[in-house]
Amino acid sequence: MSAFADNLQAVRQRIARAASAAGRDPESIILLAVSKTKPLADVLEAVRAGQTDFGENYVQEGVDKRLAAGHELPLVWHFIGPLQSNKTRLVAENFDWVHSIDRLKIAERLSQQRPPHLPPLSVCVQVNVSGEASKSGCSPAAAADLCHAVAGLPGLRLRGLMAIPEASDDPVAQRQPFRELRRIYEQLQGEGLALDTLSMGMSHDLEAAIAEGATLVRVGTALFGERNYA
Ligand SMILES: *Cc1c(COP(=O)(O)O)cnc(C)c1O
Repeated sequence: MSAFADNLQAVRQRIARAASAAGRDPESIILLAVSKTKPLADVLEAVRAGQTDFGENYVQEGVDKRLAAGHELPLVWHFIGPLQSNKTRLVAENFDWVHSIDRLKIAERLSQQRPPHLPPLSVCVQVNVSGEASKSGCSPAAAADLCHAVAGLPGLRLRGLMAIPEASDDPVAQRQPFRELRRIYEQLQGEGLALDTLSMGMSHDLEAAIAEGATLVRVGTALFGERNYA
């Protein structure tokens, strides 16, 4: 087996164990392979191992890989990084999902720029559940208004919420921000939004996220190895 295939099996086992501990079906949790900074060859190796969903943080890098990987393969491309106004068109034209909506202006641009021949762009609103520690995402207090506004935009389909909590080694502390995100998610469902995605959990804290209800975990290092930003 390739290194990726070994890692994939190990991560799937972690997901299965965490799901089973929480009384959840592991099939209800999507594994997003975060391929940022990794070469196309790594993506293709992952595809051969059966991986279908890929996450990218940098617009041009993600677009390049998606185009090189081909359109015939039924791959799903997720944009998960900070998104600036001048990059929204490329994202609207080339990705299937955006997890990092943090203000209405970005969502409005994606809505206007999503090509009509494509299915609606699946989007998540990113919420800053760790307060000052992270600068990305809207505040928990602003999440409801932003979600209701985004849900009304054509060309977009609001799927749920995403968060990147402050890193912690303590499994109990890891769960607290995930629980907070889930609380907001359930509140919005109660207000009538048809949400199905809680995008939370990465290599070091996916068990805590699954315990708190994650439906999609975003895993880079545990699948592809350490990133080299040099
Ligand atoms: C890089 C990144 C990940 C993956 O992180 P790992 O710790 O390598 O698993 C997940 N989500 C987002 C938004 C990222 O930027």
